[in-house]
Amino acid sequence: NFISAVVPPGEIGVKFDDIGALENVKKALNELVILPMRRPELFSHGNLLRPCKGILLFGPPGTGKTLLAKALATEAGANFLSITGSTLTSKWFGDAEKLTKALFSFASKLAPVIIFVDEVDSLLGARGGAFEHEATRRMRNEFMAAWDGLRSKENQRILILGATNRPFDLDDAVIRRLPRRIYVDLPDAENRMKILRIFLAQENLDPDFQFDKLANLTDGYSGSDLKNLCIAAAYRPVQELLEKEKENTGDTTSVLRPLNLDDFVQSKA
Ligand code: ATP
Repeated sequence: NFISAVVPPGEIGVKFDDIGALENVKKALNELVILPMRRPELFSHGNLLRPCKGILLFGPPGTGKTLLAKALATEAGANFLSITGSTLTSKWFGDAEKLTKALFSFASKLAPVIIFVDEVDSLLGARGGAFEHEATRRMRNEFMAAWDGLRSKENQRILILGATNRPFDLDDAVIRRLPRRIYVDLPDAENRMKILRIFLAQENLDPDFQFDKLANLTDGYSGSDLKNLCIAAAYRPVQELLEKEKENTGDTTSVLRPLNLDDFVQSKA
């Protein structure tokens, strides 16, 4: 139970089109992962083109790193196996060696597979000095050794995808094993607009709804913040309708009014 999820590619339910913005990130992942997983024969000759074995996604919380990892597995036709750094280190007291071997042997049976390590800093962070628990240290060393074993088998189609909000907490040994590092940034106004269009695609919006205005009102918001704002705003017409019904009991013909910009402004406050 140190694995939080194993999902086959057809059941992940997220694809690149569900992710707004982050075009450069998707493009990089396409070249680094999707193509080699889908067409391994193109990468098996010569020395220059080798499938990448480790990628780090880093950036502020809520910018879509987990979502990208899942969508990537869908797009690459790979199984998605996810583990969380902090649960691993807290649960793995004792049998680090056995558990790491079990994890990697399980993963290799699932190939093609993307092993997503969320909070990779807490699993494989900088060496913790005097306060580091012995079990954590052993676990990390085992993990690295198993990981190196993976890298030597070129065609196994196993990728480790780490994610972190704290890239500076990673030590050199991990950085070296995650040779490709991709920054997942907060969206600018134009990209916030793209993300908002995805979240609001199915909503009943006021005909004059101005996406650019909403995008300008949400400076500094992550994708996750935008989603929470949309949920809060969408709730307002529902709440209004319920209140109206309470006032004049018996009136059940009322319909939900469309969402307008003010719902967002009020929800922000
Ligand atoms: P953390 O670093 O806190 O783990 P994260 O970067 O992994 O965060 P996610 O968990 O992927 O962020 O994002 C949280 C939610 O925010 C997603 O489930 C999704 O609903 C929404 N989201 C974030 N970014 C985007 C985006 N670019 N397009 C669509 N939805 C997004």
